[in-house]
Amino acid sequence: MPASSAMPLPHRSDTYELIDAGFDCMAFVKTLFPLARSLTGDGVRKTLQEIAQHIPVSISEVPTGTPVLDWHVPKEWNIRSASIRSLSGETLIDFAHSNLHVVGYSRPISAVLSREELARHVYTLPDQPDAIPYRTGYYADDWGFCMQDSRWRAMQDDTYAVEIDSDLKAGHLTYGELLVPGLTDNEILISVHICHPSLANDNLSGIAVATALARQLLLTPGRMGVRFLFIPATIGAVTWLARNEAILGRIKHGMVLTCLGDVGGFHYKSSRRGVEIDSVASHVLARSPFASTLLPFTPYGYDERQYCSPGFDLPIGCLMRGVHGQFPEYHTSLDDCSFVGAAALDESLAIVSEIVSVLQRNVVYERIDGRGEPQLGERGLYRAIAGQKEAGGANQMDLLWLLNLADGHHSLLDIAKRADTPFDRIDAAAALALTAGLVRVCGS
Ligand code: ZN
Repeated sequence: MPASSAMPLPHRSDTYELIDAGFDCMAFVKTLFPLARSLTGDGVRKTLQEIAQHIPVSISEVPTGTPVLDWHVPKEWNIRSASIRSLSGETLIDFAHSNLHVVGYSRPISAVLSREELARHVYTLPDQPDAIPYRTGYYADDWGFCMQDSRWRAMQDDTYAVEIDSDLKAGHLTYGELLVPGLTDNEILISVHICHPSLANDNLSGIAVATALARQLLLTPGRMGVRFLFIPATIGAVTWLARNEAILGRIKHGMVLTCLGDVGGFHYKSSRRGVEIDSVASHVLARSPFASTLLPFTPYGYDERQYCSPGFDLPIGCLMRGVHGQFPEYHTSLDDCSFVGAAALDESLAIVSEIVSVLQRNVVYERIDGRGEPQLGERGLYRAIAGQKEAGGANQMDLLWLLNLADGHHSLLDIAKRADTPFDRIDAAAALALTAGLVRVCGS
C-alpha cells in the first residue's frame, strides 16, 4: 500500500512543547516550598498529598525498625516549632521564618544556655554570611540551629532561651509510587528525593518535573511502563529496593532527577555499567539547544548510587542541571524559589520527556524482504518524503539508512547515530517504511 504524502507521524513527540498546559511546574515548586520535609514525618506526607492532587500516587508507610538491606528504617521525626530568644523575650531565630533554621532530626530541648554553650550547636557559613546552611543529623541524637553568620555575630548576649518542640519516636518512613502502565511488563524508573525542607532546586525541581512528566504519560502511555518514585534519599531508595527485589528485572532504564530548575547547562551522569539510557540521554542532550556535559558514574551523589550498587546494578543514570556541591546556592537558603525559573523547569521537562519518548520508541526493525534496495518510487515513498520535508520529517538519506540498517541488529538510535541524524527523523523514516510494508518490528 503506497504511503500518502499527508500521512501523520504517529510516533513523533512534540519536542520542546509543554504538552500539559494544565500543570505549572513553577507554581508547584512554590506550593511545596514552605513544607518542613525531612527523612520522615508529616512534611513528607503533606508533600505526597500535594503530589496526589495531580497524579494518582500511592503512599507506602514502612514501620520504624524494619530491616532494609544493611539498614533499618529510622525513627520518625516531627517538629512543630523552634526558636532562640533573648532573655528580654525578643525572638531572634524562629523556625516559622525558615525551616532550615533547625538541624534535621534535632531532639527536643527547652533551656537557657550561655552563648558559649549555644555556640556548640550553631552552624553558619562564614564564607556566605547571609545564607542559612542546610544541615541534618539523622543518626546523631543531638540538636542544632543553622543561621546566617552575620546574624550569629550580631547575637552577643551572654545567655539565650532555646526551644525546639520536636519528637523523634517510632513511626514510619513514607514514600510515594506511581506506575504508569505500558503495553509490556518492561519499565522505566524515574526517581526523585523528597526529604529536603525549603530547598527549591535540590529537591523540588525534580519533584515538579517528575509530576509533570507523569501527567503527560498518563495521557499517552507507551511501550514500557514508567514507574515514579518519590522517596527520601538513600534510606528511601534502600527501603524500596529491599521491598521490590521481585520486580527489579522489569526495570530496563531509569533516571534520578534533581536540580533541574536552575538556568545552567545540563549534566547527565552515566549508569554504573553503561547502558541504553546513557546513549539515549547523550543523544537527546547533544541534539538539544542546551549546553550539556556527560559525567562518568561515581558511587556518590543521589540515589543512582543505591540503584547502581552491586547486587542491583540497575540501568539508571542521573539528570541534573547544576551539580550537587558545585553551585554556591547548594544546600543553603539561597536555593529558594528565586533561584529556579519557570522556563528552566519547562526546558528540563521537555528534555526528560524526550529521553523517555526516545526510550519508548527505540526498537529494532528488520526488513521483511531484506535483499537489495527496495523501489521507493513504486511504493510512493518519494512522494511521502517530499510531504514530510516541510514538517521536518525524514529525508531520503534517513530512509536509505533505515532500510540499510534495519537488519534485526541495529536499534533506531544505533541508526540515528550512524547516520548522524536526529532520532525523530529515523523514527519518521521507520514509520514510512512500516506503512509501506518494508519493515517489521523485530520479535513481532
Ligand atoms: Zn541535597
